[in-house]
Amino acid sequence: MEHPVNDRSSASTSDPSLMPSLGKDVYREILEAAPDAMVMIDAEGRIVLVNRQVEALFRYRRDQLLGQPIEILLPGRYQHGHVAKRTHYFESPQVRAMGTGRELFAQRSDGSEFPVEVSLSPMKTSLGPMVLSAIRDVTEAAQARKIVQFVSDQLRARNKALEQFTFLASHDLQEPLRTIESFSGLLRTELGDDIAESGYHALHYIEESAQRMSRLLRELLEHSRLGHLSAFDPVDIGELVREVLRDLHAAISESDADIQVDELPRINGQRAELQLLFQNLISNAIKYRRKDEKPVIRVEAIRRDNGWEFLVDDNSIGIDPALAEKIFLPFKRLHSREEYAGTGMGLAHCSKIVELHGGRIWVTPNEWGGSAFHVFLPHVRPELPIPATDLNEGS
Ligand code: ADP
Repeated sequence: MEHPVNDRSSASTSDPSLMPSLGKDVYREILEAAPDAMVMIDAEGRIVLVNRQVEALFRYRRDQLLGQPIEILLPGRYQHGHVAKRTHYFESPQVRAMGTGRELFAQRSDGSEFPVEVSLSPMKTSLGPMVLSAIRDVTEAAQARKIVQFVSDQLRARNKALEQFTFLASHDLQEPLRTIESFSGLLRTELGDDIAESGYHALHYIEESAQRMSRLLRELLEHSRLGHLSAFDPVDIGELVREVLRDLHAAISESDADIQVDELPRINGQRAELQLLFQNLISNAIKYRRKDEKPVIRVEAIRRDNGWEFLVDDNSIGIDPALAEKIFLPFKRLHSREEYAGTGMGLAHCSKIVELHGGRIWVTPNEWGGSAFHVFLPHVRPELPIPATDLNEGS
């Protein structure tokens, strides 16, 4: 198909001389067809032009608005301040949204208010400087925002209540436990040889259970304190992992573990919590090693678009993919205490720490048949799911 050389429809519209000359009626129709309410005011703030949407949105007839100050469309409490603002705007006019970061309200003819978004465009016309405002009713979006805010406030309040309950329960339950421990110790020393063999066994079970319960309560207490241990600061993860390895020195040399650590980044986070995260992942990789192989562990970091993905890879006994999500639940274990010691809280701690950083943790099988724990930590932490409050508050 042939195109004429001077086909105006394909000409650049940035050159006004090449624009098709449209009649006034066409410009009027364009204005009327705009989805937003359009209001034009002069330098005195008087309304000189409105479209159909203004009539529908504000429930005025056009003739009731023309010549009126723009403040007629604002709730009374904003009218006075607006006069100064628009005068200031005419002094240095620019295309921009109005009231960024603030909620704006408009007022209908019956006095009812509704939330709006307004964008302003200054214009030079033959009648002098003007400002064209596009006004959009955002009632639905504002309602949706309120619902999201309400639900997240509720969630935060419940998380806080649950955290306080866990803290107090685990703290207060230590007390009767200490009594059980001290009285069973007393029985053992006081009665000594007078206790029958079966009594000794019973006493042994009581002591063992009390110790275990005490450990579980300590873990619960630690869990509820996570997020309160340190502030958000720049943390050198390479240095932090080296410290973790020093702390795990005994387990590493006893198992002859081979641990390779790549270059790791500096990130923003809570140091004590992140240390616990890497300590749990690395000590698990050693603990769940195969009986006939020395543990080989690799720690690395991969830069992603909006954060870092850390990887703790091992040649351990591996994890059944069907149970890969369950292991992050508190007290969830895949093995008996006789096989591998533990309380099942390590990965629950990890999960909470990662959540506090706005990230995600998951595990996949790797090429050695072991486990690869992935931790994604975003550069920017979204709003905290659990508010950092004083745990003792309200106790
Ligand atoms: P614990 O080690 O005290 O049982 P965790 O919460 O740290 O508690 O781990 C939960 C379960 O996940 C463990 O019981 C174990 O079965 C499994 N697991 C954790 N880390 C590894 C790993 N590196 N390799 C294989 N299994 C693991």
